[in-house]
Amino acid sequence: MKKLNMRTVWLGLAFILVLAVLCFFIGFFFSERTSNSDHIMPPAAENGTTEAPTATAPVLTTSPLVSGNAQVPANSTSVNILENDDIVPLPEAVTISINENEWYLTLVNDWYKMPADYEVVSANAAPGSDVKLDYRVAEAYTAMYNAAAADGLYLTPYSGLRSYSRQEINYENKTQLYLSQGYNETEARALAAMVIKPPGCSEHNLGLAMDIIDTADNFYTTKEYAWLMENAADYGFILRYPKEKQYITRVEYEPWHWRYVGVEHAKAIKASGLCLEEYLQAIGKMPVPLAQG
Ligand SMILES: [Zn+2]
Repeated sequence: MKKLNMRTVWLGLAFILVLAVLCFFIGFFFSERTSNSDHIMPPAAENGTTEAPTATAPVLTTSPLVSGNAQVPANSTSVNILENDDIVPLPEAVTISINENEWYLTLVNDWYKMPADYEVVSANAAPGSDVKLDYRVAEAYTAMYNAAAADGLYLTPYSGLRSYSRQEINYENKTQLYLSQGYNETEARALAAMVIKPPGCSEHNLGLAMDIIDTADNFYTTKEYAWLMENAADYGFILRYPKEKQYITRVEYEPWHWRYVGVEHAKAIKASGLCLEEYLQAIGKMPVPLAQG
């Protein structure tokens, strides 16, 4: 009797072990398949033809932060925009007026877009790189690049300023990809915008943001990322799309995307734990729509 019980116990344990191993591999398989989203198109993939279609599309939920109506859920860290079946349609983006005195606080996202004819004066972002940024941001980036280099780390520019027309092509390609997967127009546009913003809605169109080194999902595990988390604010840069703010930004976690806001605001944002949308709301600097006529 006792012998039989022991045998049953061992069999049970073996069964649980096999089950656990199986679950691990299934989980690993699916995370590999769904974690290849890119906010930017690397040069080789810019025509949209070299990118493998993802089997499962990311899905949006939740009410986003909009001008004059900041709603931040109390349990903000637990909201994940990828965990719900509802796809929230893209809002109609309002064209904003860019305040030249506070150009570094310009907010573009799914709700606000820059004027299509806004001209960025650009400069190379770092020594030996032809990746460009707004010339004022390039100066700050070069300083940051040199400081990191002195610590033995190279914040190699990967993607900076991107033209309005390039953005339009990238966004249309991404939308087409989702259409080809059977999503309708509204769904496809909303899903595409989570990884590539519509033209004028990307900080890359303003030359205010840099994708650093690459757009690998595991960039957050690198020494360069740790350095940025520690020091970037001293040069005016913030992590623009934190993981726990996806429900506000409507952008997937992008550890590689660093946005210039000036040293004072970067330090304040870092200390506050707010994302840019929340911070601008808090200090009363949300965008002003461009006057018509
Ligand atoms: Zn980016």
